[in-house]
Amino acid sequence: MFEHLKVLPQDPILQLMQSFRDDPRPDKVDLGVGVYRDATGNTPIMGAVHKAARRLLEHEKTKSYVGPAGSPGFNSAVTELLLGGDNPLSRDNRVSTIQTPGGCGALRMAAEFIKLCKPDAAVWVSTPTWANHMPLLGGAGLRIQSYPYLNSETLEVDFDDMMAALEMARKGDVVLLHGCCHNPSGADLTASQWAGITDLILRKELLPFVDMAYQGLGDGLEEDAQGLRHLAQAAPEMLVAASCSKNFGLYRERTGALMLISGNAKSQKAANSQLLSIIRAHYSMPPAHGAGLVETILQDDELRREWQAELSGMRDRIQQLRHAFSRELASSGDFDFIARQKGMFSFIGISEKQVNYLRAHHGIYLLESSRINIAGLSDKTLPRVAAAIREAVASA
Ligand code: PLP
Repeated sequence: MFEHLKVLPQDPILQLMQSFRDDPRPDKVDLGVGVYRDATGNTPIMGAVHKAARRLLEHEKTKSYVGPAGSPGFNSAVTELLLGGDNPLSRDNRVSTIQTPGGCGALRMAAEFIKLCKPDAAVWVSTPTWANHMPLLGGAGLRIQSYPYLNSETLEVDFDDMMAALEMARKGDVVLLHGCCHNPSGADLTASQWAGITDLILRKELLPFVDMAYQGLGDGLEEDAQGLRHLAQAAPEMLVAASCSKNFGLYRERTGALMLISGNAKSQKAANSQLLSIIRAHYSMPPAHGAGLVETILQDDELRREWQAELSGMRDRIQQLRHAFSRELASSGDFDFIARQKGMFSFIGISEKQVNYLRAHHGIYLLESSRINIAGLSDKTLPRVAAAIREAVASA
């Protein structure tokens, strides 16, 4: 039965990671990786996470099943992070949040849920978007449509083109938006653009779906949720996929959540029961450990303060690197956008040939699209990487 199967080509990101590992040059630099790195190149376990893990170990009394929705304490803490405390949607019982295996689990379960509600709905995704959106959403059988997002000349959001394309969406289609720190471009919507897109979604009766994978890594925990909150208070229905991989550094613990907002408490109850039944049919219930850590942190004032301070430190480090990098590149063109953009990623707008030049001549690894992970830089490597890019731009 398996004999006719062919070996698939390796995922380009995994291939890049492999080439980096195989490269013997001691001063090689990995800017392709999709995880936060500190100044020493490590992806650290946050101090608050360490402490929460010790507490969990001491106080956990059972390893019994958690149920398809996961931990209620985690779910309400994440709802508060996303929507703010004491929000009207929670008061009106129009919202429920369920724990999922990472943001990916939330995206896929949302896709299955959309498929159940409206099998012919198209999901509109930005060009570019995170490559995994396609298999996660398309794999559920949904039709994917794309809307232009990034202007390839200015590397800023092409809002007029985006809005013009979304005018083509049909009633009931789904619009996927990155809550903050757009991956892969780092170019985010402004408050007035969020207001514009909210009006369009309401007028055309579309379903907003926000992917919030980097809350706290752009401008701050509250600031990064403003667009999402604006949409949530206006739209009758909405989906949000949230990830705790980056802002809690819990990548391998697979910790995320899917938030569902319905028009009223009655339809919310029905929608939630359908979603839980979908989950039961896929993975039955989510893993408990990562969510236990997040819940422990968010429910304890001291740990929460420590976590927020560590998250601010990560955000400040990224912002400082962004400013220093755009200054260092200034003599080779306009790279100011790098300082304006948010989160870990930016396209630096160089050609595939120049990307290959950096790898061949300097052991600097980035994706062919020219996406770099800013957190992969350090004060030590930044001047050398900038000099190599200047050289690549001049010669390749
Ligand atoms: N959404 C975006 C835009 C991402 O970049 C990622 C991870 O890189 C995710 C969702 C999913 O994250 P995870 O499944 O690791 O929580």
